[in-house]
Amino acid sequence: MLNIRIEPISKKKEKPDQNNLGFGHYFTDHMFLMNYTEGKGWYDPRIVPYADISLPPAAMVFHYAQEMFEGLKAYRTADGTIQLFRPDKNIERMNNTNIRMCIPQVDPSDVLQAIKAVVNYDRDWVPSEEGTSLYIRPFIIATDEHLGVHVAKNYLFAIILSPVGSYYPTGINPVKIFIENEYVRAVKGGTGFAKVGGNYAASLIGQQKAEKLGYAQVLWLDGIQHKYIDEVGAMNVFFVIDGEIVTPSLAEGSILPGVTRDSCLALLRSWGMKVSERKISVDELEEAYKNGKLDEAFGTGTAAVISPIGELNNNGNKMIVSGGNIGPISHKLYDTLTGIQWGKIADPFGWTVKVD
Ligand SMILES: *Cc1c(COP(=O)(O)O)cnc(C)c1O
Repeated sequence: MLNIRIEPISKKKEKPDQNNLGFGHYFTDHMFLMNYTEGKGWYDPRIVPYADISLPPAAMVFHYAQEMFEGLKAYRTADGTIQLFRPDKNIERMNNTNIRMCIPQVDPSDVLQAIKAVVNYDRDWVPSEEGTSLYIRPFIIATDEHLGVHVAKNYLFAIILSPVGSYYPTGINPVKIFIENEYVRAVKGGTGFAKVGGNYAASLIGQQKAEKLGYAQVLWLDGIQHKYIDEVGAMNVFFVIDGEIVTPSLAEGSILPGVTRDSCLALLRSWGMKVSERKISVDELEEAYKNGKLDEAFGTGTAAVISPIGELNNNGNKMIVSGGNIGPISHKLYDTLTGIQWGKIADPFGWTVKVD
């Protein structure tokens, strides 16, 4: 149990227009902070006004990127209850990332308590318009004032909150995806399975290239043969090929084990559908496309939940999926997951957790 001290903001900020939130533009009145020092452990858990953090220019995170982050959401249901979606999975992943990044472990029940406490404290910031939610961003950074590559001895744990809009204000729009054959995001033995800024830093050049060509995101291939599919930008990826639902397996450690991915697998299996977690090559995709068997493709992630893919570009060869529309399986997954998250339908898996 954390003994969280509270320092309230002196004057609450004006709330943004709920119909124009976008993603990651606005931040709430407060944030959660907690420090760590080797030998002392985590200390001084506190809810304080959302404000700049002061760090020495030599703070290790700036130079060696020893940091991690998470992303989940709080949803306001019709009766005003505020609930989280599978926060235990994010917290478990947080500690798996921490191991890989040599960041100290956090106590799962303390983190859940901190998330609930800060969301509850700023609960008037959880929007109520259709499709809106409060994005929760926990992160940990190395704060030692020291140059030279070593594991840090001091860390700052923070949770910031951002009200976000509906991902699809004008209806679900399929995205165009560029298959990246030159740059890679992750390799076996690397940090692909960990949620860290460094993975994103390495991905920017591919993302920039894709955007210049008119594509929304990159589909990353395995880092060794550039042959097997890993994942899309900030989403895991699924394909429906001849009735089989396929997603790359986590075995290589090069893809992020998404909570949305895991939830889709559970739902699809509960519906009795044929689901495989396995290797899938671009060649197999192209072959399926040629034979008219590539029925659907979609990305999964907390931000968009399900993002249908309308086009895949492989070296200039364009594959148009589901006629550029959303396919039936993508649609059913989207309706079911968002239905559970906003408390509109039953939650048979016990995935939702109330904040108070
Ligand atoms: C966060 C993330 C995802 C999606 O994970 P969810 O838990 O479903 O939000 C997928 N890929 C990468 C690289 C990510 O960082």
